[in-house]
Amino acid sequence: MIPAPLFSAQNLVKHFRLKGGLLGSSRGVVRAVDNVSFDLAEGETLGIVGESGCGKSTTARLIVDLISPDAGTITLGGKLLGKHISARELRRQIQMVFQDSYASLNPRLTMEDAIAFGPKVNGMSPQQAARLAHELLERVGLEPRRFAGRYPHELSGGQRQRVNIARALAFSPKIVVLDESVSALDKSVEAQVLNLLADLKAELGLTYVFISHDLNVVRHMSDRVMVMYLGQVAEIGTVEAIYSAPAHPYTAALLSAMPSMDPDRRTMEAPLTGDPPNPINPPAGCRFHTRCKHADTICAAVEPGLFGLPGEGHQVACHIHIPGSNHRNRGVEA
Ligand code: SF4
Repeated sequence: MIPAPLFSAQNLVKHFRLKGGLLGSSRGVVRAVDNVSFDLAEGETLGIVGESGCGKSTTARLIVDLISPDAGTITLGGKLLGKHISARELRRQIQMVFQDSYASLNPRLTMEDAIAFGPKVNGMSPQQAARLAHELLERVGLEPRRFAGRYPHELSGGQRQRVNIARALAFSPKIVVLDESVSALDKSVEAQVLNLLADLKAELGLTYVFISHDLNVVRHMSDRVMVMYLGQVAEIGTVEAIYSAPAHPYTAALLSAMPSMDPDRRTMEAPLTGDPPNPINPPAGCRFHTRCKHADTICAAVEPGLFGLPGEGHQVACHIHIPGSNHRNRGVEA
């Protein structure tokens, strides 16, 4: 029997109304997340990739309930959010680490106080919370005697991000959402923080959602990868399936745009041209059809749903793979 997922998002929709029209009316709707579904198994890392504006950060905010979906459901441990589990409890069990390590910390709080703040608000005594802060500083590789009394401006970007990870761990979460959490760091510091994240995951049995524009880092960190395009899931599957046999032309284009040190693997033609279309008025049918070199008549007319491919949980939203779609390239590799 397949175990129930730790976390499940079904048919999530989040649209943002643009104000500024005549007499305060709306100028349109940004369809940031449109019918997105995925599961998270306990202990796995799900990578989320896609160009900016694809909806990955909105998805992250929906997962941690920083914003509420317009439609769709979220369950954690089989408990439906809003019915069997409160938003407050979900937010305790799912923590997030953001990209901007400085903005995430209160400049007036020492590192000890920053980490102890959340537990104290949740009823822990000041002494216990301070002890926990010291333990967590140690755990993220910052010697408590040196760092507990420091302020954010006295730390490097990598050290601040370690403190942000410690703050997230102070709630003993089940899931940590890492939204471009290492993207602002130098490459050597980034590698150290990635190693720390891998160690913490193994030690504490954490489950990660790892969002990054860096496909090399996502490959290194993830068990499965979800590729998003204009607010929808284009493809989802194991790292092996996505990186060695991408089925969606968008995934294939993203991968061939990855920088490579191997001169034999350099891309000579631009794999992906132009910016993604405006999410206020996305193209009909397959949203990628305006940039897809395989686009056919059906692509502009009918939106492809996610279709299961051979291989563990590999799904793709592309007419090339949907039986009976009449796409001229039906069955041809992306
Ligand atoms: Fe390209 Fe058509 Fe597949 Fe969309 S459905 S990715 S336009 S081939």
